[in-house]
Amino acid sequence: MLGPLVDSESIRRPMTAATLDQVELINPATGDVFDRMTLFDADATDGAIARAHDAFETWRQISPGDRARLLHSFAAAVDADVDNLAALEVRNAGHTLSNARWEAGHVRDVLSYYAAAPERLCGKQIPVAGGVDITFREPIGVVGIVVPWNYPMPIAAWGFAPALAAGNTVVLKPAEVTPLTAVRLAELALQAGIPEGVFTVLPGRGVEVGQRFVHNPLVKKVVFTGSTAVGKRVLAGCADQVKPATLELGGKSANIVFADADLEKAARTAPYAVFDNAGQDCCARSRILVQRCAFDKFVELLEPAVKGVRVENPELPTAEMGPLITAAQRQRVLDYLHLGDPVAIEGNAPHGDGFWLAPTVLGPVKPTSRVAVEEIFGPVAVLIPFDDEAEAVRISNDSVYGLSGSIWTRDIGRALRMSKAVQSGALSVNSNSSVRYWTPFGGFKESGLGRELGPDALDAFTEEKNVFLSDD
Ligand code: NDP
Repeated sequence: MLGPLVDSESIRRPMTAATLDQVELINPATGDVFDRMTLFDADATDGAIARAHDAFETWRQISPGDRARLLHSFAAAVDADVDNLAALEVRNAGHTLSNARWEAGHVRDVLSYYAAAPERLCGKQIPVAGGVDITFREPIGVVGIVVPWNYPMPIAAWGFAPALAAGNTVVLKPAEVTPLTAVRLAELALQAGIPEGVFTVLPGRGVEVGQRFVHNPLVKKVVFTGSTAVGKRVLAGCADQVKPATLELGGKSANIVFADADLEKAARTAPYAVFDNAGQDCCARSRILVQRCAFDKFVELLEPAVKGVRVENPELPTAEMGPLITAAQRQRVLDYLHLGDPVAIEGNAPHGDGFWLAPTVLGPVKPTSRVAVEEIFGPVAVLIPFDDEAEAVRISNDSVYGLSGSIWTRDIGRALRMSKAVQSGALSVNSNSSVRYWTPFGGFKESGLGRELGPDALDAFTEEKNVFLSDD
């Protein structure tokens, strides 16, 4: 017997008697408070970390086959709960129903993928003189995962699935405003038989719970996704204990369209590469670079595509974009729109309550203007013309970020040259897709440190131990 089933309500309550703060949960589509969540404070967090530390000794000893079976059971529990998880995300984060269903299914798939890993976590046998040399991949201990509000489910799973597969235990802090799906995933893990203390979700503030992950010495690794500013502070804090950290941070990715491309397809798909999730996406291709000789034609094709994005009640199966996450985020984006850059195309959005904003394309803008340099994290794209490959590379790389990007051309040599020249962690040619759980994901420069997903993800959640056995 690997772990008891628990009353799901107990996950919602930090295990201390102290009076703890609560946060109101607001439906971004209506602005209404629909629930409240009790927040862990620093003491309650330390208690949960200590329990995760105790659980580590048991979890790491579970045989690879049993750990694989438990992760498969967890994936099956998520699969059976996709509709419920999706409904929670629609209400809590304003995600469209179709996105939220995809995200819940993605958690299942990521769990299934890494469920195969415990039985394949091989070391090496290295030829040496005088004996045999073998390596082991050992779990690190308690892993602290800090998740932002933009993709609460996928980003959580990219951390906890490989971390658990490698034999670590996990404490996970969802964003303060979007805790519900993470809390539900922890319930599902327990229902699937994952022992108590192995995967614990701690709703709370970044400056309290997140900071304890950085400073509590029982947490042996931090995975942080969020703003570059906070990511730098997390990294500096981890340095004090030489604690490893994986960082997935901001982006200002370029969608580079050459005149020889399939312009219709590039223009038809460009809005979804930036306005998906209301532009609150670290991979958003928010700089659309278009070769000057095709600029007017591209904008002509782009206009109906932008105006055609269905921004509506995210509960509707037809919705393609929902509201922004909070009133503050909406205001932050509006401030960029008030800087005076020309509006080339404006889409539609509902009026009234909720944090709605119409998709907006600014342009042409200078590559050095604030809207072309800073991560806006909202439904705003900028159009920038360029003359040739060299200029496209220069503009694309003139950024502190380097997370994703697209290259549109029919010339395979150019596609290869551009793929090598653009400084970015996840590029796509004649496509805007960045995330596949089979392939590595992460950023160059200030977009991050380390890689998540793909076949090598467990490297980031294990220590490599080298053992030499003398044949003497
Ligand atoms: P933050 O970076 O502040 O938040 C991301 C996560 O980190 C949240 O869980 C947050 O907790 C937590 N956190 C905050 N402070 C600390 C800390 N000192 N130590 C440890 N964890 C901490 O992003 P915001 O939510 O404030 O968003 C601001 C901007 O950041 C956005 O407009 C966007 O530009 C960018 N961003 C980028 C993301 C990306 O994926 N690249 C994701 C989210 C934001 P809490 O919820 O309590 O604040």
